[in-house]
Amino acid sequence: MTTTNPVVDAARVELLLNELRLPSIRLMWAKLAEQSDKEGWPAGRFLAVLAEHEIADRGRRRFERHLIEARLPAGKTLASFEFEAVPMVSKAQVMALAAGDAWLNKGANILLFGPPGGGKTHLSAALGLALVENGWRVLFARTTDLVQQLQVARRELALESAIARLNRYDLLILDDISYVTKDQAETSVLFELIAARYERRSMLITANQPFGEWGKIFPEKAMTLAAIDRLVHHSTILEMNVESYRRREALDRKRGRGRPAVHATISQIENAEN
Ligand code: ADP
Ligand code: MG
Repeated sequence: MTTTNPVVDAARVELLLNELRLPSIRLMWAKLAEQSDKEGWPAGRFLAVLAEHEIADRGRRRFERHLIEARLPAGKTLASFEFEAVPMVSKAQVMALAAGDAWLNKGANILLFGPPGGGKTHLSAALGLALVENGWRVLFARTTDLVQQLQVARRELALESAIARLNRYDLLILDDISYVTKDQAETSVLFELIAARYERRSMLITANQPFGEWGKIFPEKAMTLAAIDRLVHHSTILEMNVESYRRREALDRKRGRGRPAVHATISQIENAEN
């Protein structure tokens, strides 16, 4: 009677697993095989445990990749967002948006309006983070930075492919669209981007003013209207017309020290902010 050779060519197994791109299995199979042999696991159980580890690690690695590529400002989460400070924004609605499915699948948009300090950047970054956690791909950008990149692409006759590369993101967050400068407006790359994503890929846009000042973002009035038309067609508009959170916080600190807020001057408040 011949016995099968129990020696496994470990180097070869690792090579194969490498070839199959199964890094987690490659890391743990030897130790798990030892345990499995010792405890007499059925072969199927051994395989299932390995596969489950690979899948779980794959999910984690994907999340980490998506988080890095999203370039979200650090530390802005829905958990740290005080919804009481913006009573006109419904927490339930924002939580529903954070799931993504209902609007990202059809390329709908979110428009977030409000004065400086009202929490637009915080809320949009927090939404972005929640969406990445839920498996969506997001890119956060200051609008002026992205427009600048697209202008460079345009000069190199590569605008179309630059916009196409952004298609991989389910959501593009354009923070502070109204800060686009006059010379940036003249090239209309922003309009090209909006037109290309219309009804296909979502955008979240923040601005200090709802549409009133958008005339300077685009080179001509007809284009401004066409851009607004496309953005609002399938959109959720959130208005955050609240006093600056920073200013209020500073005011609260003054109050905390027993100084009545009415006596605090603007410059005192600003000193407290720094
Ligand atoms: P905006 O983008 O509208 O100018 P920010 O999102 O930058 O405002 O908010 C200014 C600062 O105040 C940030 O540090 C932000 O985290 C904080 N902040 C604003 N609103 C809230 C809020 N409702 N809850 C918690 N922090 C807030
Ligand atoms: Mg901001």
